[in-house]
Amino acid sequence: MASMDKKELICICCPIGCVITVTSHEDGTLDVKGNSCKRGEEYANKELTAPTRIVTTTVRVRGASRPVVPVKTKCDIPKDKVMECIKALKEIEVTPPIRLGETIVANVADTGVDIVATKAVE
Ligand code: SF4
Repeated sequence: MASMDKKELICICCPIGCVITVTSHEDGTLDVKGNSCKRGEEYANKELTAPTRIVTTTVRVRGASRPVVPVKTKCDIPKDKVMECIKALKEIEVTPPIRLGETIVANVADTGVDIVATKAVE
């Protein structure tokens, strides 16, 4: 079988950070090497077919003791939507009180995923 493409990735699923080599074959199959566990294989497969990321950032808070509230996407979103998501969050300001887990933005950047607060602000 002829090898089409070889890619090196660093697994981000745990702090070990295994270097994974993925070879894509002409028939669409992927050969994954260098991962120390199953999660690495899953990560490499997903990364080459539909890469996604969890986004963690902050949003400005109007007139509170804390100037920003930490937020994150409820689950991972397509990697190519990450910049759009961060940009959308830069433009907003929220009013306290904010509950832990409260939805800050619904359907961020049209991903179908909500942004939630990861800290409460009085
Ligand atoms: S392959 Fe497994 S052990 Fe290696 S970094 Fe990924 S999760 Fe950690």
